[in-house]
Order: sequence, then C-alpha cells, then structure tokens
Amino acid sequence: MTSLSITTTDFIRQPKQLLINGAWVAAVSGKTFEVINPATAEVIAHVAEGDAADIDKAVKAARQALESKVWSGMSPSERGKLIWRIGDLILKYADELAELESLDNGKPVVVARAADVPLAADIFHYMAGWASKLQGVTIPLSVPYTPSAQYHSYTRLEPVGVVGQIIPWNFPLLMAAWKLAPALATGCTVVLKVAEETPLSALRLGEIFQEAGVPDGVVNIITGFGETAGAALAAHPDVDKIAFTGSTEVGRLVVKAATGNLKRVSLELGGKSPSIILRDADLERAIAGAASGIFFNQGQCCCAGSRLYVAQEIFDEVVEGVAAIAKNIKMGAGLNAQTEMGPLVSDIQLRRVCSYLQSGQEEGARAVTGGKQRAGAGYFVEPTVLINTTHDMKVVKEEIFGPVIVAMPFKEADDELVRLANDSIYGLAAGIWTRDLSKAHTLANKLQAGTVWVNCYNIFDAGLPFGGYKQSGWGREMGAAVLEHYTESKAVTIRID
Ligand code: ADP
Repeated sequence: MTSLSITTTDFIRQPKQLLINGAWVAAVSGKTFEVINPATAEVIAHVAEGDAADIDKAVKAARQALESKVWSGMSPSERGKLIWRIGDLILKYADELAELESLDNGKPVVVARAADVPLAADIFHYMAGWASKLQGVTIPLSVPYTPSAQYHSYTRLEPVGVVGQIIPWNFPLLMAAWKLAPALATGCTVVLKVAEETPLSALRLGEIFQEAGVPDGVVNIITGFGETAGAALAAHPDVDKIAFTGSTEVGRLVVKAATGNLKRVSLELGGKSPSIILRDADLERAIAGAASGIFFNQGQCCCAGSRLYVAQEIFDEVVEGVAAIAKNIKMGAGLNAQTEMGPLVSDIQLRRVCSYLQSGQEEGARAVTGGKQRAGAGYFVEPTVLINTTHDMKVVKEEIFGPVIVAMPFKEADDELVRLANDSIYGLAAGIWTRDLSKAHTLANKLQAGTVWVNCYNIFDAGLPFGGYKQSGWGREMGAAVLEHYTESKAVTIRID
C-alpha cells in the first residue's frame, strides 16, 4: 500500500475543528469523534463533534454575514472571480484532496483524482459564471382597472438567505462542491453539515475557501452526527432553506423538521435505477457500461444502475459478461494505485449490504458471482451479480447502496419493459443500450427518471441538471436548474404614468 504524503499526514494529525465565522473552533461540548479508515478499520483522525449549540453559532454567523452584505453585496464579477479561484485551488491541491478522499471514504485514489476532484473544481468554475448572469425579466402588464395607468414591472433574483446543507459520505468533496457552488454564486451564506463517516475533505475545502478569500461567516462547516447536528440544522428557525442529499428515509425527517418555519427544501435521495440492454445493443459496450454503472464507487451511488434488464435472447451472454468483469475487479485499499474497487465506507454499511445479500439468497436469488463479504480486515464486499430475482424481492425493490446488481430478462416483443423499469418508488436515473435511435428516444421519453443515459452511464457535467422523479427527491442539482433553489424571485411593479 502506498504510504501517505507528508501533507496528508500533517493534515490528519492536527486537531480537526469546526469552521464558524472564519475561525477553526472546538465544539461547544468539547467532544470529538473518531474517523475510521474503511480499508483497515483503524482510526485516522479525531474530529470535533458539533451539535445543536454549534449549529446555532454557525447559523448566527451565516445570518450576520448575510445581513452585512459582505457577500451578496460584492459585485457579481468579483464574486464570480472568487468562486473561480476556489475551482483553481481545488485543481492545485488535487493530489492531496484525492488522497484524503481515498483515505477517508475508501474509494480508489485514481478514481478520486480522475473524477471526484476535477468534477468538484468544474462546478465552481461553472457556477462562477452564473454569479454575473442572475437576471430578472421585464413583464408587460394587462391590468384593466385603471385604463390610463401605466406600469413598469420587472423581477429581481435575490439570494434565498441563510442556507443549511447536509451531505452524505459517498462523494464527500463532490457533494460539498455541488451544494456550496450554487449557494455562493447566488449570494447566499451557508452552514454545511458534512457526513460523520467522511468529514476530512470538506474541512480541507474550508481551508481552501479561506485561501481563496471567501469572507468570514459566508461558509461555515460543521462536523457531527445526523441525529444531533443534522437534525438541528434542518429544524433551525433562522435557516431559510435546507438542501439535503442522502437516504430517502432521512429526507423524510428533513422535510418534517423543515415545517416549523416552512423553510425551502430540496432533496436528492435514493434510487434503484434500471440499466436496460436491448437485443440490438453493442454488447461489449453495454456489458462494460452496465458493470461500471453498478460497480463504480463500490455501488455507493444514488444513481447506481442496480436493476439490470436484458432482452431474454442475450440474457445469459450479458450476465456472464458482467459477472466476468465483477470477478476481475481488483479490490484493495483505495490508496493503492492498482485498486479498482475499495471497501465500503463503514462497518454499518458493510452489515447493511451483507444483510441484503443474505435476504436475496433466502428469497431465492442466486449469486452468479460474489455474494459475500471478503475475508480479512476492512469493509470489503465482493462485487455481486444476482439472478433468479423478481420484483417482489427486497433486493429488487430496495436500494442496497453496494456493489450488487440484480439481473432480469424481459421480452422485447411484449412491451413489458417500461412497466418493469418504472416499477419502483424511485426515479433517479436509467441507462439504455441500443443501436436503434428511435427506440432510444421512445424509451427515454417513457422512463420515469431525472437522468437517462443512452449507450453510456454515470456521465456528469456541471451544466447538466441532476435529480429525481418520485421518491428520489425534490428539485435538481447543478446546471441552471439548481439556481432556483437558492434564489427568491421578487416582482416589482412601478406606476409610471
Ligand atoms: P446514509 O444512510 O447513506 O448514511 P443518511 O441519509 O443517513 O445516509 O446521511 C446523509 C446525511 O444526513 C449525513 O450527513 C447524516 O449525518 C445526515 N443525517 C442523518 N440523520 C439525520 C437527521 N435525522 N436529520 C438531519 N440530517 C441527518
């Protein structure tokens, strides 16, 4: 295994504190919690355990920064340049951030370096441009009651205010970036609650914000647990908007907590996305795409293609192909440059995935490959392909959030595919493999999913909106679409006759 760089070793040795009002501080309670390396189950750092008292301090700092107009009052061009600088600094520290992400989350360092870090930089670069392009419109009125009266009406887009953001552990840096960049572009101030499993890269990002020159109090970062810090943020009466990414179960709690002051809520939740391979598909590409759609990030992706539907004529060939890829995946510690699949993030996650594997097999599913925990230290699960699965099984209905795909044949002639693919409480993403463009378009139109990939999977871009239908969430992340969550539209009407 590669040894840690001196920079990362130094970073994790220093006390890891909360960022409130531009200062790194201990939790009010003085408590800390352990951060675990999922490849070895060893403690790698101690982090401040923020709770309701720290959230309250951070919200006050964010409110003060909002009211001082230190951020929203900055010229859009200056704000944009500063956000751009954050993107540049992320790229400057890319190796270090990738290493930290791999150490903390378990993902292969090469993946973090090739995907998580550059995509995090991209969203800041993309959103930097929006800072100077948040425009209202002028609207001609038709009000009839005073025919002689004339009006000039226009809308303004204003920051929604103090924003609470709660993020998960599967892409810790990227999720922080997806959340923070649009909030900053629109002039909001933020309290970010990072996942307790993976707090390190967001803390490094906090340092980067300071280096870029983000004014004190504009971004506050709290490490701590969901039931304490997260719940306090979602319920806080002085938070104007809460943006949450995580499980559908916790999403529901966030919605309930937000009702007190009717704060705005956006949610990016779970999924059970279909990967669909039609008979005419380029099979080499389809098999590789379906495999990476589920096994990327150890299957810990909300949009993972976890239900595989294959035209029955090619079912065996596809299943064999996906299973062969699964068998050959090199598992190991993320920091090892040869590793293709790391451990799951935590012991809890390991046990969760293993209990699904057991329930699937009890309900009659058969593992063509994988099907169990890998022996030895760390939270490793074998990449698994399950067949003999049906829509009444838990492994087909529920999100596993691990490297487990359920494969099912369908009859193209019977037109049952759309019903099967849409038979889920979720609607986050879908993949289609076919050479027939009209089939691709027709199917893409019929699928209930916020994202449809054709002949590819997991293609993300800062400009593309991402989010879910049904219980996969409310609203969209990224692209122009996300800006509406962070702005209020004000209609101004002036009588001018
Ligand atoms: P997972 O089940 O994948 O760990 P969660 O939805 O539990 O995902 O966690 C995502 C984020 O939500 C984390 O930052 C976590 O601390 C936070 N969280 C967990 N429970 C709550 C809660 N009751 N209120 C607010 N946030 C929470």
